[in-house]
Amino acid sequence: MCGIVGYIGNKEAYPILMNGLKRLEYRGYDSAGIALLNGQPLLYKKKGKVNDLENYISDSIISGQLGIGHTRWATHGEPNDVNAHPHTSEHGKFIIIHNGIIENYARIKEKLEIRGVTFKSATDTEVLANLIEYIYIKGQVTAEIAVRLALSKVEGAYGLVILCVDEPDRLIAARKGSPLVVGVGDEEYFIASDATPIVEHTKSVIYLNDDDVAIIKKDELVLKTVKNDKQTPIVHQLDLDVGEIDKSGYDHFMLKEIFEQPKSILDTFRGRVAPDLSGLNLGGLFNVIPQMVKAKRIIIVACGTSWHAGLLGEYLMEDMARIPVEVEYASEFRYRNPIINMDDIVIAISQSGETADTLAAIRLAKEKGALVLGICNVVGSSIPRETDAGVYTHAGPEIGVASTKAFTTQVTVLAMMAMVMGHKRGYLSDKKYLGLIKELTEIPGKIEKILVKSDACKELATLYQRATNFLYLGRGYFFPVALEGALKLKEISYIHAEGYPAAEMKHGPIALIDQNMPVVVIATKDKSYDKIVSNIQEVKARNGVVIAIVTEGDSVIRKLADHVFEVPESNIAFEGLLTVVPLQLLSYYIAVMRGCNVDQPRNLAKSVTVE
Ligand code: GLU
Repeated sequence: MCGIVGYIGNKEAYPILMNGLKRLEYRGYDSAGIALLNGQPLLYKKKGKVNDLENYISDSIISGQLGIGHTRWATHGEPNDVNAHPHTSEHGKFIIIHNGIIENYARIKEKLEIRGVTFKSATDTEVLANLIEYIYIKGQVTAEIAVRLALSKVEGAYGLVILCVDEPDRLIAARKGSPLVVGVGDEEYFIASDATPIVEHTKSVIYLNDDDVAIIKKDELVLKTVKNDKQTPIVHQLDLDVGEIDKSGYDHFMLKEIFEQPKSILDTFRGRVAPDLSGLNLGGLFNVIPQMVKAKRIIIVACGTSWHAGLLGEYLMEDMARIPVEVEYASEFRYRNPIINMDDIVIAISQSGETADTLAAIRLAKEKGALVLGICNVVGSSIPRETDAGVYTHAGPEIGVASTKAFTTQVTVLAMMAMVMGHKRGYLSDKKYLGLIKELTEIPGKIEKILVKSDACKELATLYQRATNFLYLGRGYFFPVALEGALKLKEISYIHAEGYPAAEMKHGPIALIDQNMPVVVIATKDKSYDKIVSNIQEVKARNGVVIAIVTEGDSVIRKLADHVFEVPESNIAFEGLLTVVPLQLLSYYIAVMRGCNVDQPRNLAKSVTVE
């Protein structure tokens, strides 16, 4: 979750680390800390934001060309100064930062306590620091050996960067389940949990694999496994610009990302939609298309917003390609002994490509022999590296914790996959296929038209910012949109909201409706239009407030609903991409008006790399 940054080279480490932590702020965290080695170790850590840490350090004179920084998302022990990272081992030999969870920490801690080791914090991380030190002192081994031996004893997930005061010319990094990227500079190395703090320094990066241990001096990087097998580092070039990771004049990353959606979807199309709209080419799936076309069943695994995209994917694929699709929460799928056959296809969807449960789900699917595909945004992340094939969304970095452009680009990829399979399986005629391609390519322009009306969402937000409950209703393709609209509101404004299939309202939620309950209904013109009009009547009959998202020119619902927001007409299969945009904007403005921290909502982290 949270963030890791490290530096070794000839420059002053502190500004690089502090700037890196600011770049990582979007991941969500509750405390932050920095340690440098300059003869003596210097250690500063504080509960709160990176700014709090910076203010706390501001009077100190800090110098050193080797250091580490961390933003913590607490799993073991409350967020406070003591539990913040970096953690120092009992005798001060090791200073470590850690993302993830050491699952057997309690057993290790008990054994260490019996041997007289004492602990200051409640974290699993400090247990690891002390285990390393214990092995180092008792075994009289090098820091690297102590780290590798300690790691062979721990269960769980980690991204780690370690300093040893006796070996002040190196950083030791290790990864299992929690991503780490090493930036390669000129007589300097950077290390971070994702590329955002690195890109302003270098574009040459090495992605660590699970079980890798890197021993990093300023002019040398040695890569091996925990078991001491030498590895060859492979240097990749980052396709990321610094401009993509700042707010570009918007008040928040989330707003910027909502407004970026037309461009992000165009980037998703790039190289995949023929310029004359004569076909789709999903290059990443080229080798597996024959298998996809023959698939008996598709299982989509995902979490959160990606799960909502997956649900839309189910509707798209069943509708267009007539393949049965199941959509599973990755966390449920992996633990409930699912039936997976050799001729099933499992599609994992994850913005970061690091979501722990989704990663575990695909490992399970691979074990069972299914073809495993990925739909991810972060290039080079774990899921794309572990799947048989896949499609990058190419949405650009998504920094806002509440996902927006990741959702619409994931749905775009799912739509393209459904169209390709539908066409190849003979359910979509050439004419229908070409018609759909044309409609899909018109979506970015239609989203532009919605975005110019963002003030209308702001007005709605002014009216309903104090509501304590919201209901979101939709049918068919709009049920997943209703779920996503409700999730956005919950995530960033902390208002309770539920998404429901509109017809299900009668089976429970209707009891909640009164004059204080805004009901957002996605009611564009489709085959169940009349039914959704009846649902609106039912809400109105109980004095509910209806905010309806309707097709341009709709005159029927305009008379019934309290408010309407018009979206351009498209093929119904793609209207989820349009109708979700006013819902994103509504949540955004409500959260801003309620004074919430939109880009870093409480308790949430951007990329959920713990189970
Ligand atoms: N489990 C560690 C802790 O609670 C690390 C959490 C994190 O990934 O930030 O301190």
